Order: sequence, then structure tokens, then C-alpha cells
Amino acid sequence: MSYIITGRKPEKFFNFFEQICAIPHGSYDEEKIADYLVKFAKLRSLEYVRDNYNNVLIKRAATDDKKYAPTILIQGHTDMVCEANTGTTHDFKTEPLKLKLDGKYLYAEGTSLGADDGVAVAAMLTLLDGELSSHPNIECLFTASEEVGLIGAVGFDTSQIKARRMINLDSESDNKVIVGCAGGLRSDITLPVKTVKSSKSTYKLTISGLVGGHSGECIKEIRANACRLMARILLTLKDDLNIELITLEGGNKDNAIPRECMAKITSDSENKLFAAIKALEKTIAAELSADDKNFRLNIEKIQTSDYVLDSESTNKILSIILSVQCGVIEMNPNILGLVEFSRNLGIVKTDDKNANIFFSSRSSHESRLDYSIKLIDLIAATHGTTAKHHSRYPGWNYEKISPLRDIYVKVYKNLFSEDPGIEAIHAGLECGIIKSRIPDMDIIALGANMSGIHSPDEKLDLDSCEKLFKILVGILTEN
Ligand SMILES: [Zn+2]
Repeated sequence: MSYIITGRKPEKFFNFFEQICAIPHGSYDEEKIADYLVKFAKLRSLEYVRDNYNNVLIKRAATDDKKYAPTILIQGHTDMVCEANTGTTHDFKTEPLKLKLDGKYLYAEGTSLGADDGVAVAAMLTLLDGELSSHPNIECLFTASEEVGLIGAVGFDTSQIKARRMINLDSESDNKVIVGCAGGLRSDITLPVKTVKSSKSTYKLTISGLVGGHSGECIKEIRANACRLMARILLTLKDDLNIELITLEGGNKDNAIPRECMAKITSDSENKLFAAIKALEKTIAAELSADDKNFRLNIEKIQTSDYVLDSESTNKILSIILSVQCGVIEMNPNILGLVEFSRNLGIVKTDDKNANIFFSSRSSHESRLDYSIKLIDLIAATHGTTAKHHSRYPGWNYEKISPLRDIYVKVYKNLFSEDPGIEAIHAGLECGIIKSRIPDMDIIALGANMSGIHSPDEKLDLDSCEKLFKILVGILTEN
């Protein structure tokens, strides 16, 4: 195959990265990339296992000088988030990504790039390919379906891992090490609703222009949640103008702060309603953070609906949305600026039978996730229904003693004559799952600089890949 990245070191790393981009590997579609990894291992006579999840573990024995050094596990996920710009026709199941260079940046034309976590895959392949003249026993774990709930890592039989030191490569910057992450839990409330007939005029209310963002990393930015904001607006209109609710719909992922929300309502006093919306838009805009400066609240008249939700159902929907606490709930008392406990209402969707409301809670303490379950169960029960909890994964708490972290800091300082950042994050990493299975695993998470992940704007800094590889080589040499 011909490569577009040339003249960069390590050449193999960039070649492997481009090879991966030619193989479809969206979440739940890791069959082909697992085939490729197995073929790679077979060709080099490396020990490997592949499981039913399409996780692949490949091992490379130490060089003679490092036989007695601690074995190191390196880990990253094979799946990518497949996002295309509207207007781009790209079949993620069959077509290779169309790679383009913009100076030192690599991107895929019209689609996400999958540098998250193709960088890890390419780095592991380079190390397994015998690039280093001196290294300890290396175990490389390629996990599947990380982006859709860490499914591969949860399903992997960790008894096959010998290492007690681990480098996860799913971070997004080259000048810091991640030393802790949050666990998470999804909770779905389904509330049966009742409808009644209505003959009032029908209107569509729309919230738009909010910034949203990842419900873990961006939760501390105090950005507005479109669904919760809409519930509050409806509560005000209900009291003041007797509106009725037909449908409510907002958000499309449990782990993203909703940017838009739409409600269909009825009213018999159009002029007052339009005036109230104008006033509410102004009032709320004044409350929001600068990030949400493009907030808009729109109203338009639409075709009359033949049903509305009854008053009790509407009250229950608004009450659930507004009474389950969301946003930052607790900050970490030991690490300044780190959110410890948060919740996001990610999706609301109603029809003439049910209202579905989806939450995602995060904390590095299992006890707080347990508490989340109890709280959401209580609120659901109070409203005459139940909640389903699923996709739970454990967090990874900061460890005071970490020889691997010490090695990393030393290597980083030697290479770049400065201190690296040391951070815990309020988002999920597969490290939490590995740590819960192998509690004496010493873990750090590293990565290369990338931006716009999970979107068609995703870009990878190629200089940063070289830097990351230098750090990895340094750690394996020093270890
Ligand atoms: Zn990732």
C-alpha cells in the first residue's frame, strides 16, 4: 500500500496507523481489525488470544537483558466512533477512511479519523513488531467496543494477563499522565403516560444554540442542559398560561450534554404565549454562561395535534426531569478542580404511551454509584414507575504509590527537561475495569495530542505521535 505520511519516525508507527485506517473498525464492527491483528501475530510467531468480543491479546517475550524486568501491559481500544459530516457519503462498514494531511495534522475527509484510539493500536503494533532492541515482556491488549460502554474490556478474561504494570493509551495529550478516572452508570426511567383530546392550537418550542459537550469532561464547564432548561420553561408556561404538553424530545446520547430540545405544546392564548417566550428567552440568556451565548428559544405554530398528555403525566415528566439532580454534584476534596460526582440527563423522548428519560452518573467511588441507583429508584417510585440501571463500570482511584508513574515522570523530565502534568479525569477509561479485576495493577494512561474526537473535525498531531513513542520507549527501557 502507498502511504501519505512519509519521512517521519518511527516510520512503522505511521504505516500501521494508515493500514488500520484502511480497515473498517467502527464500534460493534471489530471483526476485520481483529482478523488483521491475528494475522499480524501469526506472521511474527507471537503468542496471541482472540475472544468472542474480538478482543485480542498479543505477547512479545523480553529481550535477554530485560528477562527479569517487570512485564508491562499496554492497552488501547480498536473501535472508533463513526461520524460523518452531513452531505458526506461514507460507508464505514466497507470503505477505507480518506486520509488527508494539513501540515503536521492528519484528518479524514468528511469523517472522524479514529485517532482515538488508532494511535494505541499503531503504537502497540510497532512495539510488537520488534522495533526496540531492549524491552521487558510486553503484553498488548486490543479491546473492542470501548466507545459504546467499554464492552470488550468488561468481557475480557483478565486471568490471561501476567503484567502488574499497565500503560493505557487512550488519553488525548502528550504532556501529561492520567492517574485516575471516574466510574459510570446509566439509568433509564420509563414513565407510562396518558393522553386526552385537545382542540387548542399547537406550537413547536425549540431550544438551540447551546454548546453541550461530553458529559464527563465538560460537566464542570457549567453549560446548560437543553432538556432540563425546556422542562423549566414548560413548568413556567404551565403555571402562567395553562399550556398542555404533546411531546418532548431532546438529546441523542446519554453521555453528551443535550444541546437541543423540542416540545410540542398547545395553548389558547397565542399572543400571551409568544410574549412569554420572548421574555423567557431574555431571562434565561442572562443566566447562562458565556459558552452558551448562542442560546435561542423559538416558537412556531404547527398543525394541530389531536391529543395531549394529561396533566398528571405532564407533571410527572417535568418533576422527574427537574428533581433528579444533574451537573456537578461533588468536587474531589483532594485534587483541586477535579469533579468527583456528577450526573447528566442525556436523552428525553416521549410519545403517546411513554416518556423515556436517560441519565448517566459518574464517580470514582462505587458507593456514590450505589447511591445514584437508590436515588433514581426512589424518584421513579415516587412517580409510580421504576428505573433500569445498566452499563455500570468501576472508576480508578489515584494511588499514592506508583513505581510506573515515577518511571514515567523521570523519563519525561530526561527527554523534555520539564515536568509533565499529572491528572485524574472525570470520564471513563478501561483502566477502571482492569483495576477492579487486578487490584495490584500499577496503571498510567498516556496519549498523543488530538482534537475534535468523536466528530468529523477529529485531527491528530503527528509530531505528538513521535513524542508519545519516545516516552513509551523511554519507559520500556527504564522499567
Ligand atoms: Zn478512546
